[in-house]
Amino acid sequence: MAGWKQLDIGVIGGGIGGLSVALALRRSGHLVTIYERADFAGEVGASVSCAANGTRWLYEWGVDVSKGDPVLLKQLINRDWKTGEPVSVYDLKDYESKWGYAYFMFHRQYMHAMLMECAVGKEGEGRAARLLVNHACESVDSETGTITFKNGVKAIHDLVIGADGIGSVVRKAIDIHPVKKPADSSCLHANVMTEDAVRLGLVDYSQHDALEYWGGQEGKWDKIVLSPCNGGKLLSYYCFFPREMGDYINQSWGGQDRPVEELLAPYPNLDAQVKAHLAIGIEVQPWRLWVHEPYPYLTKGKVCLLGDAGHPMMPHQSQGACMAIEDAGALGVLFNKQYFNGDIEESLAVYNSVRLPRATRVQAAAARAAYNINERIGFSDNKHTATYKVENEKAKLTIEEMNAYDMFMDIEEQLAAARNVPFTRNFIKGMPVGLDLPSGVIQASL
Ligand SMILES: Cc1cc2nc3c(=O)[nH]c(=O)nc-3n(C[C@H](O)[C@H](O)[C@H](O)COP(=O)(O)OP(=O)(O)OC[C@H]3O[C@@H](n4cnc5c(N)ncnc54)[C@H](O)[C@@H]3O)c2cc1C
Repeated sequence: MAGWKQLDIGVIGGGIGGLSVALALRRSGHLVTIYERADFAGEVGASVSCAANGTRWLYEWGVDVSKGDPVLLKQLINRDWKTGEPVSVYDLKDYESKWGYAYFMFHRQYMHAMLMECAVGKEGEGRAARLLVNHACESVDSETGTITFKNGVKAIHDLVIGADGIGSVVRKAIDIHPVKKPADSSCLHANVMTEDAVRLGLVDYSQHDALEYWGGQEGKWDKIVLSPCNGGKLLSYYCFFPREMGDYINQSWGGQDRPVEELLAPYPNLDAQVKAHLAIGIEVQPWRLWVHEPYPYLTKGKVCLLGDAGHPMMPHQSQGACMAIEDAGALGVLFNKQYFNGDIEESLAVYNSVRLPRATRVQAAAARAAYNINERIGFSDNKHTATYKVENEKAKLTIEEMNAYDMFMDIEEQLAAARNVPFTRNFIKGMPVGLDLPSGVIQASL
């Protein structure tokens, strides 16, 4: 594209989103510096799933996914709270052949290390991103692109990306002040070593290659989510319960482990098998949950937000990391040699119009899935389930909508509008025209 120029870009935050965007932008030919507040941009000891809409970008960026030691998911299983019998099952066996990319479950530390190597390593396309640790951002001037750090350092960049998570400082720099409230549910996370469970003669859930859920059908906050990671060696459990049974909003991950009795206390009637797993749980940690109202925009001046900084969401669609990766994908495309004409303002405006509606839609669907598992993508297709009920059939989110989306088409359409040229491809907002969604909505009529 005529006018393309190399930018000097500052990324605040070295989490999954920050590393992804650093990787995407180095591949698009830019100079990237990542500023991380911690002394090592580490990750918590839990699982993180990556559905096809996230995985496609990992492949796009040449990431060797096997380095993340993932579990290839083959099913989503929702089980009865007391008996453990399957209530709703979504088969993922043809998922990869249908959507072109697999549904993986990673250990977060492995995923982080995998992305880190690709972003800051010498191998790969583009110039390796620089990672500066112990650089906690204090403020950003969105007009000049000046970042001030708590250690006294200042830096100026052509573009500043706020990938600094749910408690974002960069957000303030673009005048966004979140309206938020503590979620009605609390969450404790625990890890179970598969070999410990097997030694005790318990069910070996790792054999199912499944993301498994207990409860969630009854419109209650109680729900257990099990995700196998590290090639199945580790079972990562997210245990949700009503906030009045335990409030963790003043605690954060990384403190002292909680006693296992506290983990078991809210669940007197839970399936005995999964309860026996939780009883040998280790590293029991609270996960603070906040519900944020959607933000009005993602960019201002030379600054844009990405990932949890721009659209924090409840975890119940397992899409937070995927949305951060999609954001990174969008910036990588918008600033590449095919689309970027040197006008940063134009590219950021398109970033905003491509990313905000999609992320906001997932954010709302994640809030609904918190108390109704039928709203969770995959289960939202299972209309035959006896207890199936969603708030609004036509508005529900589905796997088809997540995976049929073509961001390149969305970007081309928005850029065409910005540049006043015709867009002639058979897509509307990245969705193929005529796509018949399980919600009954045909794309052209949206
Ligand atoms: C326990 C847990 C399980 C999850 N499970 C899933 C899942 O299965 N699937 C899924 O899709 N999503 C999941 N999520 C959500 C997902 O992890 C997040 O949406 C995703 O990591 C967002 O990435 P991020 O880079 O935007 O933010 P973060 O990962 O929070 O990274 C932010 C980074 O910025 C740094 N930082 C913060 N403030 C500053 C500052 N002032 N200056 C410099 N650096 C700063 C932080 O130290 C951190 O490294 C889970 C989240 C958690 C916590």
